Amino acid sequence: MTATVTSETVKPTCTEDGKTVYKATAAFRKETYADEKEVIHPATGHSYGEPEWNWADDCSTADATFICAACGDKQRVKATIASETAAPTCTEDGKTVYTATAIFYEKTYKSEQTKLLPATGHKEGEPKTENEVQPTCTKDGSYDTVVYCTVCGEELSRETTVVPATGHDWSDWTADPAPTCTEAGSETRVCKNDPTHVETREVPALGHDWGDWEVVTPADEYRSGEERRVCRNDESHVEMRTIPQLPHEDCPTAKFRDVDKDAWYHESLDYVLAAGMMKGIGDDTFDPDGLVTRAMVVTVLYRIEGEPDAPKSSFKDVLAGSWYEAAVNWAAANGVTFGVSKTEFAPNEPVTREQMVAFFCRYAQFKGFDVSANGSLEPFADADKVSPWAVDAMLWAKENELVNGMTDTLLLPKAPGSRSQLCAVIHRFCINILGMPSYEDIAHPQDE
Ligand SMILES: [Zn+2]
Ligand SMILES: [Zn+2]
Ligand SMILES: [Zn+2]
Ligand SMILES: [Zn+2]
Ligand SMILES: [Zn+2]
Repeated sequence: MTATVTSETVKPTCTEDGKTVYKATAAFRKETYADEKEVIHPATGHSYGEPEWNWADDCSTADATFICAACGDKQRVKATIASETAAPTCTEDGKTVYTATAIFYEKTYKSEQTKLLPATGHKEGEPKTENEVQPTCTKDGSYDTVVYCTVCGEELSRETTVVPATGHDWSDWTADPAPTCTEAGSETRVCKNDPTHVETREVPALGHDWGDWEVVTPADEYRSGEERRVCRNDESHVEMRTIPQLPHEDCPTAKFRDVDKDAWYHESLDYVLAAGMMKGIGDDTFDPDGLVTRAMVVTVLYRIEGEPDAPKSSFKDVLAGSWYEAAVNWAAANGVTFGVSKTEFAPNEPVTREQMVAFFCRYAQFKGFDVSANGSLEPFADADKVSPWAVDAMLWAKENELVNGMTDTLLLPKAPGSRSQLCAVIHRFCINILGMPSYEDIAHPQDE
């Protein structure tokens, strides 16, 4: 007979066994029979999976928590930590990789955690100077200021500074050669920074530095004068120039048609006319080449003397009332003439040049001048033609520049004297012997 079986099971847990109890029931003869059999189900054990990791913030510690999927049992295991670090550089990040290792039921579990180590950035060193180029007089110099990273050596910055050219440092100019009044010179200077830098420039000629004009020969109405000036830089630089002849106004000679204003005796003629010592032979003629008579010479001297009264002379050929009578009287009375004889004066006789001079010499003697003379007539080729009695008078005349000779070499003592020559002798006699005023002073007396 077959029994009816029932069973009742208690499931095993992780830690506790379970069982199934079987019960067999059989009815027989109204009797019921039963039996029981128990089957044990062993505990299943926990079923842990992968753990949950729990890291400290700084990754210095970690633990692993295992949880049973069946019963929720938790087991915490402390892990051991290992780490491996790749250091950061200036520009690249580094990292530390932490590895946690937990051993649980003879099984090893690992977990990794990575921490970033940021790049450090460069570290600037002290600035360094490089590529230094010294400036010269004319060219700029420069240098670089460079900063390197002290860690990786990378160049972090480079700045170029320009140092301006120094310019030349010139010495003073030195003349070489110095300029003169008329020639340019040159001068040189040298750079103190570099003696090969030399500059040369031309110095213009100085030009003369003239002093004031000084009269050498003054000009008058008859001739131009001359003046000179001397350069203050060099006294051998001398300039001469002509002083123009003065304008000749109120010329007393101008009225005479027979006198050229360029005649050599013009000045003397002006003098004797202005002083009233000679006159023309007419209103507009002077007769400069006319011969001089003895009466004329005596008259001239008489006028110079101022026409004083004198006793009548003993000369029989001097006509009473003639234009020369008073003059002859005066000359005879004062030893200016002795006549050609005791009784004859010969008023119309021409006078030679030596005779003319003798008249003036005797008059000078009469006036108290020393007429003794030294020297010689030798320079004149015809000196021996002078009459012995006239030699002293000629020497005196030469010494006092009353006669200049007809030429440079001839005196012509026996030649007849002309009216123009008489003018010259009077003029020089008045100035050189008597010290009378010049024509200029007579014609244009100073105001005041
Ligand atoms: Zn469990
Ligand atoms: Zn660096
Ligand atoms: Zn220089
Ligand atoms: Zn000069
Ligand atoms: Zn004149």
